[in-house]
Amino acid sequence: MTQGVLYVVATPLGNLGDMVPRAIDILQTVDLIAAEDTRHSRKLLDHFAITTDITAYHDHSTEAKREALLRLLQEGKSLAVISDAGTPLISDPGFKLVQQARQRGVTVVPVPGACAAITALSAAGLPCDRFVFEGFLPAKASARCKALQQIATESRTIVFYESSHRIEASIGDMVTVFGPDRQAVIARELTKLYETIHGDTLQGLQAWLGASPDHCRGEFVVMVAGADPVASMDADEGVRVGRLLAAELPVSQAADLAARITGLPRRAIYQALLKGD
Ligand code: SAM
Repeated sequence: MTQGVLYVVATPLGNLGDMVPRAIDILQTVDLIAAEDTRHSRKLLDHFAITTDITAYHDHSTEAKREALLRLLQEGKSLAVISDAGTPLISDPGFKLVQQARQRGVTVVPVPGACAAITALSAAGLPCDRFVFEGFLPAKASARCKALQQIATESRTIVFYESSHRIEASIGDMVTVFGPDRQAVIARELTKLYETIHGDTLQGLQAWLGASPDHCRGEFVVMVAGADPVASMDADEGVRVGRLLAAELPVSQAADLAARITGLPRRAIYQALLKGD
């Protein structure tokens, strides 16, 4: 029996004019659409007069639900997976379905379109020849700071997703961990009426968010310039020396000596050694 095809279809971030014609064709012709939120996606489908059946699917759906979709594919039906906005799987449901479909030899076809991270990077004016995507930071402050510390010396542009509830707290933590002077760009409400792309130092962005409640509304991509490569190389060297010494000495003493040898701040070395970097 010929297997079906699983299409991974990107949908607009907000502006329906960004729906690509191929996505409309495929959503109209597949046997079933698996959507993160059927009520939300129904509006999009209605707008494009797409009448295909729709079923709810996300990565926390039961095994039985996923199995049922995989069985349809193996029986030769074609399915499309969509999320509420942008590209499925990118901080969105779909990973387990795609992974298991491929494991079973089902053809998975991407239908590209909007993705907030790429859209934001394309207009931010930060280096994007190389970048890292971090998705959402943890909700709790302590876990968030820890996650930020782990990438404090990253030299590529770092891309985060953030919600209106946490944008101020996250930028505040970035000021603390990355330092107030690091350049960054906030892209909010991309492709929508109140689209804003605002760049400044992290401290400047913190002030900008505080200046008006409107600045904190909507959906956000935060892009932070990478650490100065020389500074990160130096920091790496301090940690490397500290780690060698810590194999023989208590951590505190190892950090003291590593700081004296490399001329780098003792605190940063000590914290990295405690974290086990
Ligand atoms: N799969 C989507 C994609 O391809 O970008 C991302 C889905 S994720 C659940 C939602 C997050 O993406 C939002 O919290 C925000 O960080 C970002 N996002 C989505 N739409 C956006 C927009 N119009 N402007 C800025 N950020 C957006």
